Amino acid sequence: MSILFGDYRISLDQSEEGATLNFVSHAHSDHIGGVKRNRKVICSDITRDLVTARLGHPVNYIDTPKGISLVNSGHMLGSRQLCVDLDSGERVVYTGDYQVQESAVAEKIEIPKSDVLIMDSTYPFPNVTFDERDEVVTSIQHYISSKSEVGCILFGAYSMGKGQELVNICNDIGVVPAVDKSMAIINGVYMKYGINLQYTVSDFESKIDDGHFSNQVWIVSMNRMNFVRRLVAEAGKRIFTAVATGFSMTRKFDTDVQFSLSDHADFKQALYYIEESEPSIIYTRGGMAETFAKNLRAEGYRASPLLGKQSVLDAAVNHP
Ligand SMILES: [Zn+2]
Repeated sequence: MSILFGDYRISLDQSEEGATLNFVSHAHSDHIGGVKRNRKVICSDITRDLVTARLGHPVNYIDTPKGISLVNSGHMLGSRQLCVDLDSGERVVYTGDYQVQESAVAEKIEIPKSDVLIMDSTYPFPNVTFDERDEVVTSIQHYISSKSEVGCILFGAYSMGKGQELVNICNDIGVVPAVDKSMAIINGVYMKYGINLQYTVSDFESKIDDGHFSNQVWIVSMNRMNFVRRLVAEAGKRIFTAVATGFSMTRKFDTDVQFSLSDHADFKQALYYIEESEPSIIYTRGGMAETFAKNLRAEGYRASPLLGKQSVLDAAVNHP
């Protein structure tokens, strides 16, 4: 799906045939398909640097054209929403991944007014409600404080966004965690943009045969948890495992505990966003787009899923 604007056909967070410009809302891997195809990209400076760090080569980045603006989405450092002011006077806003609750390691969300709103649909269910972020953070800190007296704590987290938030949560109670190398590269970009993070770096490859890693908090990418867990077991250490993700509300992870620390809005927060933005029509996108649209219609909103290669401008003009 794309937005037609002047000479541009702007694809949204994905590589799309015929697109001349690619908006990258943030640096998570499922949003940078257009970058990989070397498309011209508009994004924040922070996202540009994070994507460059992740891919190991520069981004084909251009200045944001007149009539288009990028505003904070609160999802992770550098994440932005796309606002396109059409010649017709209508404004189209695409949220990308967004979060209403403020995180210590991301810019606070701004909610722009819109006529046509394209929303992410990660959490489409009215019965899924996240706890207050402060409460979740406090629970994590209590867990770290109590368990680190008797063993290691292994946190699995996305290496970008959640990993840095966990480092910050540890630092707040005087704990300096160890992170893996891929997370450390991303930490470096966060620090460049003023997020102070205290951590050590480990390859987690060497055998754990001395007291060096005792009673430490480790934060590793999700896909490395089993490897590190095995390493610790071989060393005969007591280890506690945890994840911190919003998906803790909807699935069970193979860990001792799971914390619902989400970087997305839940359904109630989505309704708050809509009330502030006041769109006349909402398009939903993502894997749960149809469910989200249906649940929004049940709340009285004009909403439909945006599927396939439908142009948002065509949709906006025709108001189906
Ligand atoms: Zn994301």
